[in-house]
Amino acid sequence: MDSRLLRQLPGVTDEAQSGRAQYLRRSLPELQRLERLIRKGEPALRWRVLAEVEDGPYSLPVYALELGSSHPAAPVLLLCGGIHGIERIGTQLLLAHLANLIHRLRWDTSLQQLLAGVRIVCCPLLNPVGMARGWRSNGNGVDLMRNAPVEADTPSHGLLAGHRLGRWLPWYRGESDRPMQEEAQSLCCLVREQIVRAPFSLALDCHSGFGMRDRVWFPYAGQARLLENAAELHALVQLFERSHPHHPYIFEPQYHQYCTHGDLWDYLYQQHRQHGGQPFLPLTLELGSWLWVKKNLRQLTSYTGLFNPLVPHRHQRTLRRHHLLLDFLLRALAAWDHWLPQGRQWHQHQRRAERRWAPKEAPE
Ligand SMILES: [Zn+2]
Repeated sequence: MDSRLLRQLPGVTDEAQSGRAQYLRRSLPELQRLERLIRKGEPALRWRVLAEVEDGPYSLPVYALELGSSHPAAPVLLLCGGIHGIERIGTQLLLAHLANLIHRLRWDTSLQQLLAGVRIVCCPLLNPVGMARGWRSNGNGVDLMRNAPVEADTPSHGLLAGHRLGRWLPWYRGESDRPMQEEAQSLCCLVREQIVRAPFSLALDCHSGFGMRDRVWFPYAGQARLLENAAELHALVQLFERSHPHHPYIFEPQYHQYCTHGDLWDYLYQQHRQHGGQPFLPLTLELGSWLWVKKNLRQLTSYTGLFNPLVPHRHQRTLRRHHLLLDFLLRALAAWDHWLPQGRQWHQHQRRAERRWAPKEAPE
């Protein structure tokens, strides 16, 4: 149930509404901002509720938003955030980007033309209970990025790879032989439905908490091998690097850093491949949060400070810093048939991808 439905229902008192508003202000301002954006963005912005998850008396919607073409065969850019509740900056970054798009759509004719041919699908806050509580996991203590039914070939040592010891430890995968958590299932249904007929799709899932540099990761997280669309990915990265040579990112397969069970994007990518889908490049933006900690050691004293920039000017800078990448992905998506490699070019990109991202032993 979304807040508007809540307002319309008979018997939902003003007191209940103001209680929810207070709860959101205190624990989940990102959801309030998202609901304000929905009101501001209609009718160009389409929305629906994928799932409802409970935090005590409060029912929290998982929203999916759409901008641009509603044609099922349009190319799709999927934007995702808040899978790990503690990583609020990913959600905030997507909300800032959405606000930018909604505002520009009123006057920017080139953006209007661009979006007439492609679709942006955004799920900016997948784990609202986790975010409200300041947890990495969802409300059931499950790490949604370890919850998919895929096993790592050579998992990193320790709990980080994902485990089934118990929900009181981080990186808990959930019980074996049980369905995926509701939030994870919602994302899987959304991705499948949206990209099944698309001739080309891109995804960017926003996280934070690893390393000094901003990284763009891609499958596989659970196997030390290149993804099947390595040539297409190499062509995309080359396009970006030649267009923006001073960019801040490291592009690498996730297994170069660690190897994990249950990665949702590994699972979705493999599923899409098995069903004969067209090229799909699922990317993860991993914001280098250790740099914020290094520049402000007080961040070490709070859990949220390990994952989010706490100093206002650094927060603002982070919200600005990635528009270039998001804008590039949209433009590359719209022009996919101008650069996606075929024939001899495909083989050249494949060889370069193999040299650049050669599987190496995943660090333990
Ligand atoms: Zn994360």
